[in-house]
Amino acid sequence: MYRSYNCGELNASHINTEVTLSGWVQKSRDKGFIVWVDLRDRYGITQLVFDEQRSSKALIEQAQNLGREFVIQVKGTVIERASKNPNMPTGDIEILVSELTVLNEAKLPPFTIEDKTDGGEDIRMKYRYLDIRRNPVKNSLIFRAKVAQEVRNYLSEEGFIEVETPYLIKSTPEGARDFVVPSRMNEGQFYALPQSPQTFKQLLMVGGMDKYFQIVKCFRDEDLRADRQPEFTQIDCEMAFVEQEDILNAFEGLTRHLLKEVNNVEVEKFPRMRYDDAMRLYGNDKPDIRFGMEFGELNKVAQHKDFGVFNNAELVVGIAVPGGNSYSRKEIDKLINWVKRPQVGALGMVYCRCNDDGTYKSSVDKFYNQDDLAKWAEITGAKAGDLICVLSGETNRVRAQLSALRMEMAERLGLRDPKVFAPLWVIDFPLLELDEETGRYHAMHHPFTSPKPGQIELLDSKPGEVKANAYDLVLNGNEIGGGSIRIHDKATQAIMLKHLGFTEEEAKAQFGFLMDAFEYGAPPHGGIAFGLDRLVAILGGQETIRDFIAFPKNNSGRDVMIDAPAPLDEKQLEELSLKLNIKS
Ligand code: ASP
Repeated sequence: MYRSYNCGELNASHINTEVTLSGWVQKSRDKGFIVWVDLRDRYGITQLVFDEQRSSKALIEQAQNLGREFVIQVKGTVIERASKNPNMPTGDIEILVSELTVLNEAKLPPFTIEDKTDGGEDIRMKYRYLDIRRNPVKNSLIFRAKVAQEVRNYLSEEGFIEVETPYLIKSTPEGARDFVVPSRMNEGQFYALPQSPQTFKQLLMVGGMDKYFQIVKCFRDEDLRADRQPEFTQIDCEMAFVEQEDILNAFEGLTRHLLKEVNNVEVEKFPRMRYDDAMRLYGNDKPDIRFGMEFGELNKVAQHKDFGVFNNAELVVGIAVPGGNSYSRKEIDKLINWVKRPQVGALGMVYCRCNDDGTYKSSVDKFYNQDDLAKWAEITGAKAGDLICVLSGETNRVRAQLSALRMEMAERLGLRDPKVFAPLWVIDFPLLELDEETGRYHAMHHPFTSPKPGQIELLDSKPGEVKANAYDLVLNGNEIGGGSIRIHDKATQAIMLKHLGFTEEEAKAQFGFLMDAFEYGAPPHGGIAFGLDRLVAILGGQETIRDFIAFPKNNSGRDVMIDAPAPLDEKQLEELSLKLNIKS
C-alpha cells in the first residue's frame, strides 16, 4: 500500500494516528539537528519532520539527501505542530517520520514548481508534465472537468443522449481548411478530420435520436490567431422537432445551470439582440454588454457642415467615454495614435470634451458650434466630464475600429470584471456573407442553415439581405456558442448549395449522403455547439484558454513537448503512396 491518506487531508483530529503518505518533495529546510520536508500531491501539502531527539541519525541523513521533486513514501505518526500555519488545511499537524523510502529520484526541474513560477511559457510547454504539477494549471484542469461533468449532468437529465461520431471522415463545411489523413488501404485517398460533427449530428436526427450531445474534438487548419488551437473541444448538440425558440430555451438552461453550479451566479433571462442591432450599437456581433458606451451614429448631425472628412464618410459614429474629459491633451494624442495602429486601422479620431460647466470643446471647433456638439452628446449619451470619440469612414470598417476602441476604453476603466457575467443571444444573422476577396457569397454559419421563412425568394435578388434561423450565445464579449435551425428537405438544400456556388455534381459528391438522407423522412431539426475551451476559461475568469488544456499547441500549431508535427520516414511515405514536394 503506497498510502493510507493523501497529502491534503490530515488535521488535528488525526493526531497520534499512524499514517503512510506518498508524494513529491516540494521543498526541505535543513537546520542540521532538525529537517522539515514539504510533501506534495494533487490534494495538498503535508509537513514531514525528522529530528535528532526522535529520529535515527541514518533517517535524518536520508532526509537531508532528498532533492526537489523526488518521489518518496513515508511512514510515521501525526503529531501537533509547535508553530501552526492557519493558511494550510494541514497546518495544525506534521508527520514525525519513522521510515522513508525513495520511490524515484528526480532531476532538478527546469523551473520552480510554484504558483508563481520562474519558468517562461516555452519551457513550461516543453515540460508540461511538470507544469501540471503547479496549482494554477492543476486547478484549471480540475475546473474544466467540473464544467464538463455539469454539462453531462444537465444534458443527460434533459434527455440528451451522448453519441460518438467518427474522426476519419470527409470534408465538413465550417469554412476552415481541413486536416487530412492519408488512407493506406485506399491508395491516393484521404480522410479529413471533422471541423465539427455537423453532418453526423443531422444524420442522427434523421436516425431518430431526437436529442444528441457530445463533448468532442474538432480540427480546423487555420492560421492561428492568438489563443486559438488547431484542435479544440465543442459541446455539440442537436434536437429534432424544434424551432429556434426551443433551442434558445434549452441552451439558456444549460448555461444558467453552469453559471449556478460552477460560479454560484444566478442570471436573469438572457437578453436577445438582433444581429443588425448588435452591429449598429456595438460594431460587433459578439458585444460585451457588461458596460454601456453604446455607439451613437452622427451622420445626420455631423455631415454637411463643411468638414470634408465626415461629409465623405459612409458612417460617422461615436462613443462617450465616461470621465474621459480628465484626459490631458497628451493622453488624447496617445489614444489617437492607438486607433491609428495597424491592428485597429483608423485614419484618425475626432474628439469632443464635455466640460463640467456644460460647454464643449472639440478638435473640430472650426466646423461645429456648441449646439452641434450638444447634439453629438445627446446621441452618444455623453454627460459632463465625458469624452466623445468619433470615427468615420466605410461602415463595416469604422464599426470594427470603434468596437476595438470601446473594448480598450472599457479595459482601461476596469469595466470588464471577469466575475460579472453578461450573457446574451444574438439572433437573426444574415444567411450569407460577401467574401470581399472573391466577390462571392458564402454561408455565414454553414450551408445547412435554413433561411427565415419566406425569404428564400430573396436569394436571387438580394442575397445579402436574407436572414437566417441562426443564433450565437455571447458571454462577456466572446462567442461561446453558435447554431441554427437546419434545412431538412432536399430541394431547399439544393437551392442553398447552388447559391453557394456548388455545381450539381459538386454538391452530390460532397453532400450527396446528406441530401439522400433528407429523402427518407428527415424531421425538422436544429442545434448548437459551444466552444468548451473558451467557455471554461471565461467561467474560470481567465483570458487565455491554454491553462485549461492539458497539452496545448503553440502559436505555430506545434506541440513542443512531443515535438509534433514531425517528418515521416521514407518507408511510411511509401506505404501511403506519398511523395513530398517541398518548395522552400
Ligand atoms: N457545427 C456548428 C459549428 O461548429 C455548430 C452548429 O451549427 O451546431 O459552429
